[in-house]
Amino acid sequence: MSMIRLTIDNNEVTTKRGTTILKAAESAGIKIPTLCYYKRLNPIGSCRMCVVEIEGYTVPVAACTTPVVEGISVITQSDRLFRMRQDALKLILVNHPLDCPVCDKAGECILQDLTFEYKIKSIDYKLPKQTLTSAYQTTFIQHVPERCILCLRCVNACKEIQGIGALSIEQTDGGAQITFDKDKCVSCGECVQACPVGGMVEKKSPFRWRSWEINRTVRTTCPYCGVGCQQLLHVKNGRIVKVTGVEDAEPNKGRLCVKGRFGYDFIYSKERLKTPLIRENGELRPATWDEALDLVVQKFTEIIKTHGPDALAGVSCARSINEDSYQMQKLFRAVFKTNNIDHCARVCHAPTVAGLATSFGSGAMTNSFNEFPRAKMFLVIGSNMTEAHPVASTLLKSAVQNGAHLILIDPRKHQLVDFAEMHLPLKVGSDIALLNGIMHVLIKENLYDRQFVESCCTGFDDLKAVVMKYPPEVAGNISGIEPETIREVARVLASVKPVMLCYTLGITEHTCGKNNVMSTANLQMLLGNMGVECGGVNPLRGQNNVQGACDMGALPNVFPGYHQVVDPDARKKFEDAWGVTALPAENGLMIPQMMDGLVTGKIRGFYIFGENLASTEADISKVEHELSSAEFLVCQDIFENETTRFAHVVFPAAAWSENDGTFASSERRVSRVRTASPPPGEARPNWWIFKQIAKRMGHDWQSDSAQELWDNEISVLAPNLGGIKYYRIENDGLQWPCPTITHPGTPVLHTDGKFTSGKGHFAPVEWTPPAEVADEEYPFVLSTGRRLYHYHTRTQTGRCIGLNDLLGEETADISIDDAVKMGIAHDEFIRVRSRRGEVTVKARVTPEVPDGMVWMAFHFREGNANWLTNQAFDPSTLTAEYKACAVAVEKV
Ligand code: SF4
Repeated sequence: MSMIRLTIDNNEVTTKRGTTILKAAESAGIKIPTLCYYKRLNPIGSCRMCVVEIEGYTVPVAACTTPVVEGISVITQSDRLFRMRQDALKLILVNHPLDCPVCDKAGECILQDLTFEYKIKSIDYKLPKQTLTSAYQTTFIQHVPERCILCLRCVNACKEIQGIGALSIEQTDGGAQITFDKDKCVSCGECVQACPVGGMVEKKSPFRWRSWEINRTVRTTCPYCGVGCQQLLHVKNGRIVKVTGVEDAEPNKGRLCVKGRFGYDFIYSKERLKTPLIRENGELRPATWDEALDLVVQKFTEIIKTHGPDALAGVSCARSINEDSYQMQKLFRAVFKTNNIDHCARVCHAPTVAGLATSFGSGAMTNSFNEFPRAKMFLVIGSNMTEAHPVASTLLKSAVQNGAHLILIDPRKHQLVDFAEMHLPLKVGSDIALLNGIMHVLIKENLYDRQFVESCCTGFDDLKAVVMKYPPEVAGNISGIEPETIREVARVLASVKPVMLCYTLGITEHTCGKNNVMSTANLQMLLGNMGVECGGVNPLRGQNNVQGACDMGALPNVFPGYHQVVDPDARKKFEDAWGVTALPAENGLMIPQMMDGLVTGKIRGFYIFGENLASTEADISKVEHELSSAEFLVCQDIFENETTRFAHVVFPAAAWSENDGTFASSERRVSRVRTASPPPGEARPNWWIFKQIAKRMGHDWQSDSAQELWDNEISVLAPNLGGIKYYRIENDGLQWPCPTITHPGTPVLHTDGKFTSGKGHFAPVEWTPPAEVADEEYPFVLSTGRRLYHYHTRTQTGRCIGLNDLLGEETADISIDDAVKMGIAHDEFIRVRSRRGEVTVKARVTPEVPDGMVWMAFHFREGNANWLTNQAFDPSTLTAEYKACAVAVEKV
């Protein structure tokens, strides 16, 4: 890009052609006042505060919209400009109430500051007073129309940043004002963050804080999904009172969703666990740390002595920091001497880890979120990212607004359909047939990237042999997609390069989950979309730190850094590092095997850290039987939950924002998590609890903080993390692989035609149907997932003020046609039955689901879809088929 030179206030400035005067001035440290300008939006130049003079021009121009021109001389301060800005402000102030004493924005209001700076003592204009009446509010947002200055930052933020468009401006009898579409609004609060005055304010903590009382801001990482949004916690007297997005930070650049912005106050719930608990006479009673720790050590020691170390098993927590998962797997391996350690990747992305490792040599998202807005085309399959990964979806929507194409493959017609050029509503569980059909066309019509395939991949002939069995007519018959549409999709995919493929649990939570994953990898290799920006295979991880829990070795087959436990060299490395001998040499058990073992007696002692298995695992009745069979069950959590009902000891743990640490997001970015307030009562950091158990069993671990654990152990032992130290991730995190201290991190994997495994491997896969399909007795297919306003089993979101108001109960989503056929009205109670159980919930009659499908979530205990789901597993990863089982529906 060519550079040009100009002067601003007699300073020589060199800047890129196309830059605005405002940005050129900013880069030279020259401040021009603004009001409607917001750096995250396209400028509109409406408030006239940023007017500047240009020598030779008769009329001042708006600096935010005027591009620089070679050789111009710009004046940003003059008497004339001062008067013009004063006039602009006075016109705004005519209708702006001076209710600063009760306005949330006081102290951080740009209008207030400019009024002071431009010395406005009185307003001599006599404009007709506006009578604005239609203020709106949501659970979290209050619109105060009298204060609105019509800068349109909220309207444009809603549309441009969040891709929602719930706000618009309308001329009413009382004057122009912002109007709101309640059906579109998702309470993300982007409008509040964008509003420069108090026209949009938060309702969450009215009259509880003033901006000057915020005595600390803490940058941290969101505790919910795997996007890893960066938040700024505003803390008053040790308590978080507000959360905003960090505006220049990766990956969210200031964006947050409703949970990230308003889902912080669960940590202050009265129901927090504050002391250890021990079960006595059937009841949990408070205990001291010494009592509880001694009891756990005594029981575990007895079990090891009597039944061997493999009679113990543990589940780590993908919501907690990396350092906690590291410490737990170390406890199991180095102290207990078993590899029976796993975590909830087992119920979501274990097929990703295994499948992508087979295809590429590395089981993680290949590209980065900051590529989304620049992408040319997306293929999204099995992902309702608008609800499950909201900020990722806003990045995708930005790209579509900028001209990118979206092909969506999903049985449901969810919100991304509005942004899609093509929507393929395939039958549940037919992904492989459809993808094979697309690849059939690519090969048959010679549309694939022959050069990439020949030079960078192995196994093409095997792939070809399999996909040739899936001409579009066969693929169409299985998937329900017209053969011509399959041909068209293949041709469109081949016409644009690169295409970014994204998927979520619609791909993995099947009995063929690993094969589904490898099928997406096959397609992207065939198209030559690997190793380049805005391409790749991009699984969006569900929980905030599920990538990290995998990286830390909270898996039965790998140490931290994915060293195989069966590899003697790896074991030697960790024995030396941990000062132990004889680390266990066999792969451990996966969660479903552990649960079976509770009943058979193979597992005697079970340690569940931060998971609520009694609600998250398929077939709750069976799971409850398994948990109740445990000889000795330890839970470590921040609340009592459905699972702690079975516990013999409960340890109270520190939550997000109550200790320092790191999370690793979907895009392999390791980011800091920081302390805003201490844990309540006797609750302690999780890594500390594991350390106390190790100590009582004769192991004197040195690291005594999350930072020491990371800097001195984790980053030393995991080669991909070797260059990541706390001091390097003070601001934006680093993406692994980052092997050395000078390495900048790796935004795109498998570049230059080189895969982690050398060459990419085509692993051809045949379509297999779901384990349980609809029949006469159970004629509907149940599919499950997440809804926007809650997370997991609501242990956190259910305790945040407001989120239950937005979604207060579980529903079963059914199609309009099915509802009409069965005479079921919206909100009417229905019974949903499977071979494993039944639930009674309200029907949500919606065009989103196709005929013959029931769609439910697992957020609420009552109506939890997991009373119905099937414990049929992907054979190699033991991930359950949450996305497909057969159910019957009837009116209650
Ligand atoms: Fe948090 Fe995910 Fe929302 Fe970002 S998109 S704010 S990480 S829940």
